[in-house]
Amino acid sequence: LPENYQPAPELLKDRIILITGAGSGIGRSAALCFARHGATTILLGRTMEKLEAVYDEIEAEGLPQPAIYPLNLEGATHADFESMCDVLDGEFGKLDGILHNASELGDRMTISDYAPDTWSRVMQVNVNAPFLLSKALLPLLDKSKAARIVFTGSSVGRKGRAYWGAYAASKAAQENLMQTLADELEDKNIGVNSINPGATRTAMRAAAYPAENPDTLLTPEDLMPLYLYLISEDSEGVSGERFNAQ
Ligand code: NDP
Repeated sequence: LPENYQPAPELLKDRIILITGAGSGIGRSAALCFARHGATTILLGRTMEKLEAVYDEIEAEGLPQPAIYPLNLEGATHADFESMCDVLDGEFGKLDGILHNASELGDRMTISDYAPDTWSRVMQVNVNAPFLLSKALLPLLDKSKAARIVFTGSSVGRKGRAYWGAYAASKAAQENLMQTLADELEDKNIGVNSINPGATRTAMRAAAYPAENPDTLLTPEDLMPLYLYLISEDSEGVSGERFNAQ
């Protein structure tokens, strides 16, 4: 992130940005923050009430009208993402950004005890879905003059750690997918990067560290300058990089 980075108030004006897991935590904050900077947001998630609450917050502030795209990434197939591409093409005609934020934590236990079904579910939501979503929406991103894809990593994806099982493997895979895509899209105007948020005050962090005092952690809002930078035209020429938000 450039030193003293100050995102312009209208940084994301006229940009259409899809956020997965937009109903809570970092995804919710990103949706609100992108909308406050002028973006039309597409709120994707599996829990309708949470998505509607974010929708209502955006509307109440008089920001660009968002769209809700309810989808459980666990069962979503290539055909579902293809029809998403058609729907978004009909509605918006282009896509300027994807924030791959939704993730499952899975179980915190040894590999020896790890349930195979949980492993498959975590890999489905955290790796296969971002692959399928990115693949299906590339033609729409191609219609943007400066598209951006942001993946979400984790420190346990950089170096595996006991009891992090599928989550750690999925985050390593997600950052590797980011690098492959960035390399393949080098000659296009599509920047692809990843963010490791670091310890952040959300429900997922509390589930992973129940004994921790959340007040000692940064909030999702604190991380937003980096998210704004990577999802906007400000990150022109930056691609294939793994960023740490903290
Ligand atoms: P939250 O649990 O608050 O948010 C995760 C979001 O993902 C929720 O909105 C959840 O929806 C959604 N989601 C989960 N499974 C699915 C699914 N099958 N289909 C659709 N949506 C789904 O966690 P965070 O905000 O903390 O996490 C955001 C990202 O940051 C994740 O990728 C996480 O791995 C990463 N991260 C977080 C850290 C932290 O300390 N908080 C540290 C490192 C990385 P629902 O509300 O319906 O469950």
